[in-house]
Amino acid sequence: MEEILVRGRTGHAFVLARGERFKVVDVQGKQVSDLVAFLRDDPTERFSPGNTRKLNGRLKISRGGILYSTKCRPLLRITEDTVGEHDLLFSSCSAYDYRVRFGLTAPHASCLGILAGVLAPYGVSEPMIPDPFNIFQHTEVTPEWGLVTREPLSKPGDFIELQAEADCLVALTACPQDRNPCNGWTITDIKVILG
Ligand SMILES: [Zn+2]
Repeated sequence: MEEILVRGRTGHAFVLARGERFKVVDVQGKQVSDLVAFLRDDPTERFSPGNTRKLNGRLKISRGGILYSTKCRPLLRITEDTVGEHDLLFSSCSAYDYRVRFGLTAPHASCLGILAGVLAPYGVSEPMIPDPFNIFQHTEVTPEWGLVTREPLSKPGDFIELQAEADCLVALTACPQDRNPCNGWTITDIKVILG
């Protein structure tokens, strides 16, 4: 078993063989982790939120849900989930959206930038990074089809466990979004437990 502490505003990438499992732990609570995955031997085949919504027939997934690739191949399966509230609708926060959504002109750490940094050693560049599975992110869909970002429901020690359904490259963040309730207004750490 290996534990990796992913400090707030940073990320981590790792490879998994089919059948291996890992936990993503919300250390202090209310901290989102953007997760993306790729087929290890061909990263052009990557996580697809659209196929995942379509093939699960759901806007949100929890225990038993499957994260599918761009070619409808199961990449990861959720085997445990102590929260049951995650997002499959939002893109990662990015240098581009902090400018458009919040009017920031100064640089701000972003999940897309963090993912690009940790995936670069694996030969994956920013344009290859898909929209994520936003672990612990709490999105409300209103009756009028609006999207509202709420504070996460996750408490200290809550976790989700995933199992590789194919040999995968996985990357995730401790999201730096501090301009809306996404992370409960405080950026904290995520822990990854492998094995
Ligand atoms: Zn983010």
